[in-house]
Amino acid sequence: MTYQIIETCVNCCACEPLCPSDAIIEARPHFLISAKKCTECEGDYIDPQCVSICPIEGAILDSFGKAANPIGSLTGIPAAQWVAMIAEVRASV
Ligand code: SF4
Ligand code: SF4
Repeated sequence: MTYQIIETCVNCCACEPLCPSDAIIEARPHFLISAKKCTECEGDYIDPQCVSICPIEGAILDSFGKAANPIGSLTGIPAAQWVAMIAEVRASV
């Protein structure tokens, strides 16, 4: 298994031009990664370029199915605080 883009992708298009393997596909309802083409950037870059540029925590999963940019990794908000904030927002609507 390689990297995957999941439904929380907001189709910002930032990752697609950076992929050295042309593995990122514009699709509906969100961008996808071709498992056949993704090389995990090995041989081209130290870091997976899609993960490095993606602004959305949790939108890309690694080869183990875990968020490559987990909650808090980009915003700095601790996961427990984030969960509490979301619960508060949902309770108010
Ligand atoms: S990990 Fe690298 S090769 Fe794989 S989709 Fe992302 S940018 Fe492309
Ligand atoms: S950078 Fe992230 S949010 Fe933007 S298109 Fe790629 S996966 Fe989706």
